[in-house]
Amino acid sequence: MRKIDCEVLVIGGGATGAGVLRDLAMRGFRAALVEKGDLTHGTTGRYHGLLHSGGRYVVRDPVAAQECMEENRIIRRILAHCIEDCGGWFVLTPWDDPDYVPQFLAGCRRAGIPVEEVPLQQIWHQEPYLNPHISLCYRVPDASADSFAATKAHIEDAQGRGALVLNYHQVVAIIQHNGRVQGVRCYDRVKGEEVEISADLVVNAAGAWAGQIAALAGVTVTILPGKGIMLAVNHRVVNTVINRLKLPSDGDILVPAHTVAIIGTTDVRVEDPDRLAIEPWEVELMLREGERLVPGFRSMRILRAWAGVRPLYQEVARAGDDDRQVTRAFVLLDHAERDGLEGFLTITGGKWTTFRRMAEVTVDAVCRKLNTNRPCRTHLEPLPTPTHGYHHLGARLAQVEKETTFGKLICECELATLEDVSHAIQKDLTKTLDDVRREVRLGMGPCQGGFCSLRAAGLFHHLRCSVQEEAHLCANQALLDFLEERWRGLRPILWGDQLRQERFNELIYRSLLNVEQLPRPKGPLLTVEPYLSSACSTGPDRGVAFSPEEKQKEEKTADSTPPMISVGDEMDVLVIGGGLAGLTTAWHLVRHGLRVRVIAKGWGALYWHAGCVDVLGNLPNAQGSTEVINPKESIAWLKEHQPDHPYSWLGESSLNESLQAFQGLGRQNDYPFYGSLEHNWRLPTAVGAPRLTCLAPETMIAGDLTSRQPMMIVGIDGYLDFYPNWVADNINALGIPACGVILSLPALQARKSLTTLFLAQSFEQAAFREMFAEALLSQCGTQVTSGEWRIGLPAILGIDQPLRVLRHLEELLGAKVFEIPTLPPSIPGMRLHNLLLGAIRRNGGIVWEGMQVNGFLEGEGGRRIDLVWNEAAARRRAHRARYFVLATGGLLGGGLVANYEGTVQETVFGLPLEYPAGRGNWFQERFITESSHPLYLSGVRVNLDMQVLSSQGELLYENLRVVGTMLAGCDPLQERSLEGLCLASGYRAAMSILAEERAVR
Ligand SMILES: Cc1cc2nc3c(=O)[nH]c(=O)nc-3n(C[C@H](O)[C@H](O)[C@H](O)COP(=O)(O)OP(=O)(O)OC[C@H]3O[C@@H](n4cnc5c(N)ncnc54)[C@H](O)[C@@H]3O)c2cc1C
Repeated sequence: MRKIDCEVLVIGGGATGAGVLRDLAMRGFRAALVEKGDLTHGTTGRYHGLLHSGGRYVVRDPVAAQECMEENRIIRRILAHCIEDCGGWFVLTPWDDPDYVPQFLAGCRRAGIPVEEVPLQQIWHQEPYLNPHISLCYRVPDASADSFAATKAHIEDAQGRGALVLNYHQVVAIIQHNGRVQGVRCYDRVKGEEVEISADLVVNAAGAWAGQIAALAGVTVTILPGKGIMLAVNHRVVNTVINRLKLPSDGDILVPAHTVAIIGTTDVRVEDPDRLAIEPWEVELMLREGERLVPGFRSMRILRAWAGVRPLYQEVARAGDDDRQVTRAFVLLDHAERDGLEGFLTITGGKWTTFRRMAEVTVDAVCRKLNTNRPCRTHLEPLPTPTHGYHHLGARLAQVEKETTFGKLICECELATLEDVSHAIQKDLTKTLDDVRREVRLGMGPCQGGFCSLRAAGLFHHLRCSVQEEAHLCANQALLDFLEERWRGLRPILWGDQLRQERFNELIYRSLLNVEQLPRPKGPLLTVEPYLSSACSTGPDRGVAFSPEEKQKEEKTADSTPPMISVGDEMDVLVIGGGLAGLTTAWHLVRHGLRVRVIAKGWGALYWHAGCVDVLGNLPNAQGSTEVINPKESIAWLKEHQPDHPYSWLGESSLNESLQAFQGLGRQNDYPFYGSLEHNWRLPTAVGAPRLTCLAPETMIAGDLTSRQPMMIVGIDGYLDFYPNWVADNINALGIPACGVILSLPALQARKSLTTLFLAQSFEQAAFREMFAEALLSQCGTQVTSGEWRIGLPAILGIDQPLRVLRHLEELLGAKVFEIPTLPPSIPGMRLHNLLLGAIRRNGGIVWEGMQVNGFLEGEGGRRIDLVWNEAAARRRAHRARYFVLATGGLLGGGLVANYEGTVQETVFGLPLEYPAGRGNWFQERFITESSHPLYLSGVRVNLDMQVLSSQGELLYENLRVVGTMLAGCDPLQERSLEGLCLASGYRAAMSILAEERAVR
């Protein structure tokens, strides 16, 4: 067993523990700190972000109020770079009791809190989104505070003074001898081994877990863990901290924090601070109270939810007490005086705002107990900081602009640069990507890690592969854990746009990269536990049913009085949606002579996906998820076991014919696709996992993983979306010899950013290819020319003539070359898009982009669609056609929208849908699951002609067809069936329209 010795050991790496450690180090103690997760893993990293003035507590908890105000002044001085001096307001809304106001003002005076009234006209000038019915407003010195940065600053300062910090070390026993604590035994969660730390004195600063630690020492400390949840809305709806002018209650504070605003919180007693749920009623309550402060709040995009646990202390617990009544002041327990146990102190209760004082009081007690007199200096000596003054919102952007690092962003949402992330990864204490997140805010913006997760995991591998064994396994685990961690805070708030974003992330990590197939380490895991589903929560269900605020429901009904102009001729067919399903349908129709117009809001999943044709790669069945080797056989299985799945009734012939037609189109355009329904390709993804796909373009097939030929995976220095050594290590793990190469190309060195698109355009130039080949040959000449190796590159081999590029490169290198699709935008996807677009236009079809359908008109007594319209230049433009095809891309494409109320809507025609009722039934606990999240099976039910059926099975509109991922009963991302479904359903819809046309003529 590893043994460590120190004078004072601190348990808990939150604000209090970090504060105690720094104070100890400043007073010259040999100190150490252990934390079971990463620093700020507890409540400190899950709080509301408010540096209290104390105004909140002046009436009910005056001691806490005074402590807050005094510390507020000190924290501003010593930790200015972690504070945004946004100020705070207490506002009286129509729901608040005006009788509270005099009590509030008197309390502020008593606690020494400067307070002044804000003139009403100034309120909305400064905060235009605030409720216009606010009738009083007082300014206090509240501020917004970054607890990650503050804890980091304390820990680094303490380390600089010789303190030892061990994260991921969980205290499992307190060592005692003769009534005296002599140290602790810890479990090192990274190495999976025990560590013994002896100390003259142990400080229990474990926050809401302090009772558990005390129990290990055999003493009782009653902590009342009070859970609170918070929601972040995706922009700063306010720039000032807004408090309600009333006794502390739920959802009554809105804090601007970096680029978002946070509403909080609730207060629910829980039994175990590690087993938390975010209850639907809590989310509802936050939305309702948010709405009272900022009208429209409930319809804004909520980014994330999280929960923290207050370490509320009561000497004697009284059952049934309201936690809001329990003091927020802190206590220091000397267990020698209290319980006859020497060498053990517990510091608990308090607020983040008062952590410094809690530390001071604790270390004063340490001095007394160790018979030494060393005065505290933490209130005098500011923490070291590279910047001066308070933090301000534009600071990061200013930094990026000054250093011109905008092309080197790993996380675009939070402006975390390559340098920031690399630096964080290389720190000794960093074990997971979540640790990197806390350091640089990685993945905390609107996309919640959509792009940066891959890049950060790639860097994790790149920076650690020379110093860490099996670095690829660690990077794989880091990526998977991070995806689960992001999902954990998303699941309670997934509806609307944030749900669509999440579906996009799923497309990247599951369907495109197939991360679940990555090998993982055998050792202990640092995975964060998901929030419990409501039913398993240890907290009470308050049984509060809030009636949702009156919300205008946008029921889609046929519009009877549209003043509108018609555009163009009446078409035979109008296709709504420009993704693969819409374009495929249009192409089949135009090549058979129909007049077709496609109107598209955007380009759909083609620009995001792999550019292959996935027909069926993963079949969740009774035995769990299975890889599909032979799609034809698996579709036959589906037919028997899942008759409602679109493949089951579309039939093999539609699928086969659509694939053959598509392959014919590829051949005609010198971009052939290879493969058949009988056999899936096994191709590498941009993380080196195998990906099963039915048809692959010629540029990819040399990457077939069923061949054992060695692979050389080549990336380009400065290109942040592809990490060749990581890919190669994971391919090696599949039993195929592989190595990674990063090429430094002098011609690109001066560029500020290297994008996929730029590289694809560069590869279209022969001179660039020659330069690339020369560089590769000079770096790994003999290997390349030996003929033994095949060369894998990210999918950047030109947009227009990829085969020419491929063949030229193969000629220059004397080796087979293949592409590996990486993060969107997808170059192979663009080629596919261009292929279809060209075919439609050459056959006389029209494609209009950037156009969103806003409504429609029925004809013939509601049995047909007469026209759809979009809005342009403040007019409605009508598009008339004899047939309409809806290809708007399901939840991913925006054709379906899932709402907060637990309903799902089809956005153009308001069609009847199948979906699981109630938001609580939409998702599973984990992001990566063996079967689909139930919501993702939602969609429109159609007949064999792709016409919509009502819930009673009746035909709805005779001239409307629905195709692609709008169909119910399948999850194209989980099943890896995205393109197959689009091709087959588009083909079937086109054939049905053509058959009807022939019958009419
Ligand atoms: C919802 C909510 C909102 C809040 N908002 C604010 C606010 O806006 N402003 C404010 O001033 N205060 C706020 N607070 C209070 C404040 O966040 C806490 O008082 C403060 O963060 C507590 O810090 P701590 O270091 O004492 O505890 P923690 O941060 O919880 O640290 C304790 C640490 O001990 C570790 N630990 C536990 N068991 C073990 C073990 N066996 N071995 C090793 N380590 C262990 C835990 O992992 C944890 O990291 C809020 C609290 C909640 C719950």
